[in-house]
Amino acid sequence: MVKFGKGTMLIIVLVAVFVAYVFLSRGSEQPGAGWIVIGQPEDADILDPAKTVYPWAVNVNNLIYETLLTYDWDMNLIPMLAESLPTYNEDGMFYEFKLKHGIKFQCGHPFTAESVVYTLNRDQNLPGSKQTESLKNVSAAEAIDDYTVRIYLKAEDRFLIDWFASSSSAIVCDECAKKYGAKFGTPDGPPCGTGPFKYVEWKAAQSITLERYDDYNWGPEMYQNKGPAHLDGVQFRVIKDYSTAEAQLEAGIIDFDLNVNASYELFNRWGENNPYNIKLYVGPQVGNLVYLSFNCAGTENHGYGYENGEISPGSVSKAVPLKVRQAIAYALNENRFIELAYAGVATPATSWLADTIWGSIDYQENRYPYNPEKARELLAEAGYPAGLELEVIHWTDPHYDIICTEMIRELENVGITLTMLSLDYNTVEDKIRNKDYNMIIAGYNWPLADMIWWEWHTSRLPSPNRFWWGDDYTDAITDNTWSMNNEVALTALHESQRLIAEDAASIGLLNRGLVSAWRKDVIGFKIHPIPSNWKFLDVYKPSVSHAVSVTAYPAEDNGSPGSVLDYTVTVTNLGTEEDTYMLNASDNAGWGPSILPSSLTLGVGESENATLNITISMGAVPDTRDLIIITATSQKDTTISDNTSCIAHVVAS
Ligand SMILES: [Zn+2]
Repeated sequence: MVKFGKGTMLIIVLVAVFVAYVFLSRGSEQPGAGWIVIGQPEDADILDPAKTVYPWAVNVNNLIYETLLTYDWDMNLIPMLAESLPTYNEDGMFYEFKLKHGIKFQCGHPFTAESVVYTLNRDQNLPGSKQTESLKNVSAAEAIDDYTVRIYLKAEDRFLIDWFASSSSAIVCDECAKKYGAKFGTPDGPPCGTGPFKYVEWKAAQSITLERYDDYNWGPEMYQNKGPAHLDGVQFRVIKDYSTAEAQLEAGIIDFDLNVNASYELFNRWGENNPYNIKLYVGPQVGNLVYLSFNCAGTENHGYGYENGEISPGSVSKAVPLKVRQAIAYALNENRFIELAYAGVATPATSWLADTIWGSIDYQENRYPYNPEKARELLAEAGYPAGLELEVIHWTDPHYDIICTEMIRELENVGITLTMLSLDYNTVEDKIRNKDYNMIIAGYNWPLADMIWWEWHTSRLPSPNRFWWGDDYTDAITDNTWSMNNEVALTALHESQRLIAEDAASIGLLNRGLVSAWRKDVIGFKIHPIPSNWKFLDVYKPSVSHAVSVTAYPAEDNGSPGSVLDYTVTVTNLGTEEDTYMLNASDNAGWGPSILPSSLTLGVGESENATLNITISMGAVPDTRDLIIITATSQKDTTISDNTSCIAHVVAS
């Protein structure tokens, strides 16, 4: 000790400082930022966005991949991988997207216009792609330069721009997708995107693990933190049954339960100030409709195969005639379904388009209000004064079981004996193809009015047009729903909904609300109108008293000598106590960046912005880059700090 005294101490101190520096230097290695575990009832099918629209895959894909556009908290379209919203050239019939610069896929491959063109071609042509139909009006995609893409249309398509915000349009890494071919998106061909979390591991039927992508810093404007994410990672776990998921959430084994079964008992147990530290969310969601549809084959007025006022021979074995369908519409009380199956978390459907979708209308005059007396009259007129027997099928779903059970009771009241069959997916599809069904309960979860064309155009028979409904007239109006002209599209949407309602080809039952639950110690989470539209950029789980994250945006900015550049600096308190942070900025070139305010006091989980200014020296040499380092230091524990950097790039004036 005596011999080496001072020197040893100095080395020890230096090592300690160095370790602390490495540990705290990046937002990406924050103590206390934590992992979150999400319980969902099913495993993903494939982590390739072209090949899946399965919600349990989309939940995962939305963290791995990004789209050109996205929806902000108010459902406005905003850019994500695009630099701005695209322009539309009416004469040339093309969209032009400008892309953000400096983005890399998780494997390190750069994101460019080529990646977008490759993804679109793949979406159109890949065997097993679920996106082909969404791109039916796209003729070509072309890279004009590294950061400009044109997408040419062959027919008007008002829904395409929204498709670029849907998870289905996620941009895949062209290099990895080529390398892994058909295996891309499986454990043998790991998924690769530009999102804030990257793939680590997939244990079939058990779990999918993602970890933070440390280089991510291009988050969309809707998040305070532009990246990297605060969390170390996210794990999805398959938990089949409701009660296990509830128990695991209460015990803190999982942080999110994506399969909450709405019940009044649960609303009580997880109400305000519950002892489990659970935040229960009950609210509306966009575009979620449950409906009852009929086999309309060959029946009036627009049943498929019904021509010249004649029911086509041989097509009506199990089809349900118009008056019987209308009678059933009168006999059903959707308020009972809402109470019994969804504990009140739904609203009665006003049309076949969910009420949150643009173009949906309230068809009071064409809907058949609850009126069992009228239902009996219509059945007698239809030739069934003593009633009849019918069968309703659905994909296995406990809520649909409850709806059917109540439906059996309500229809019995008007003389219809109803049998319910809960079946697997393929059996349902077979029965529909063979017209071997009377009625089906189904639903959709989609925010756009293209649902009308998707499920009702005759080119969509036998699935997803599960109604055996449609003729030349209905095809013409559903085609018009794609028009870029608002009035033409709206008129077509209204007429389609009116016909579906009048014909009682399908009865919209209810707009399903959303019930979700998470642990209260998950900070910074906000639910989106499309719940799976998440990036978890602002989310973290604090576990230590003092911790901080600082990020700067943009990562690089350009200016000529003499100009002033502004950067937004965001500081987040990741600790479990209120803290004040001193902000400091320095740079390599010695131009003296300033930061205001120079300190921020933040509550737990709070984020606030400061502005950094730097004036590029008049003598600066064009094309040089000045590295600016920003540090936020806790005043409650000065050993806790975080730093980040940004670049001032000198361009010729
Ligand atoms: Zn890659």
